[in-house]
Amino acid sequence: MWDALPDAARSIVKELIIHGPQSRTALAKTLHLSTGSLTRLTKPMVDAGLLIEGDVVHDPVNGRPTRPLDVAAANHPFLGLKLTADQVHAVITDLRAGVVAARDEPIADHSPEAVCRQARRLLDELSAGAGLSRIVAAGVAIGGDARSSAQVGRERLVDAPFLGWRQVALEPMMERALGVPCVVENDVAALAHQHHWFGAGRGLRDFALVTIGAGIGYALIVHDHLVAATEADLGMFGHLVVNPGGPMCPEGHRGCASAYLASESVENAAGQGLRRAVPYAEVMRLAADGDPVCLTVVREAAAALGRLIAHITTMSMVKTVVLAGEGVELARVGKDDLERALTANRRDVPGSVHVVAEADDFREWARGGAVVAIQSFVTGSD
Ligand SMILES: [Zn+2]
Repeated sequence: MWDALPDAARSIVKELIIHGPQSRTALAKTLHLSTGSLTRLTKPMVDAGLLIEGDVVHDPVNGRPTRPLDVAAANHPFLGLKLTADQVHAVITDLRAGVVAARDEPIADHSPEAVCRQARRLLDELSAGAGLSRIVAAGVAIGGDARSSAQVGRERLVDAPFLGWRQVALEPMMERALGVPCVVENDVAALAHQHHWFGAGRGLRDFALVTIGAGIGYALIVHDHLVAATEADLGMFGHLVVNPGGPMCPEGHRGCASAYLASESVENAAGQGLRRAVPYAEVMRLAADGDPVCLTVVREAAAALGRLIAHITTMSMVKTVVLAGEGVELARVGKDDLERALTANRRDVPGSVHVVAEADDFREWARGGAVVAIQSFVTGSD
């Protein structure tokens, strides 16, 4: 059904998904369409059940009674998956990426075929639990190169080193297993798309996303589009030097972003001081409680993050930076040091950059997978 949508109709669906229900008059104004064109474009979508009309309200534009249009979000479910080295995180969302059902479980068998079978079982179980008979499409967020690998024909091949996958044709394999169209995307890019349409970046044409966790991720949205990057570009970012005299990362760089911010770096630094192994979450908790060792580790890491954000924003000229990932608690516990370092590296101008620390839930990555599928269907791109 959606393949046949003209571009103007796609713009209408996109506008309603991102900004919520609106009257035809308001929609026509926003999208620079005549009300006649709008009615002509929306009618088939209402008939097909993609758009619905709400209860009568008074139009904010002309005061007349009107029935605002909305997308039938609940009737259009999507599957989102995030694969890590040992876990699969699955969500079923509605058309606005609202989570309807979710589950996390260990990856039982790392072969691509087995992971696809596990995805199918998760889809069946989550669908049954949520009372859904079918989904529209699926998206997989994966730490690795999902976009720019060498292509055979139109087939996109995935490299995911942490799963031991090289040049895997994951999309067709997943489509066969799930029985619906599937899109595979780099996980940081998928998370950036999620924040662009449904999160802290909604309504913004430009922002950067930095993810903190096992690795350090970066994505940039400029003029409403994600700047395309390869795994090599993204891998560089985590090793950008923020303090030449700083601690060393496993690749031998002194004071790179990973040396300060990667979960293992934080755990190792705290572990050295406390002379015992300390998991990341405990370092954050102890720092928040004022433990001197953990507080020092978190303060230094937060200051490094502040410098990193100063570099990003000065070079790219974006004014908003969204922080996400499972290690994002660091930005909350170390907020003052982050802000101080950021301001000091932005000519002492306070508030010149808006930093938003988001949820540290792994399911957000899986939602990113669902959003890539939603976007692909709404915009007709892949
Ligand atoms: Zn490094």
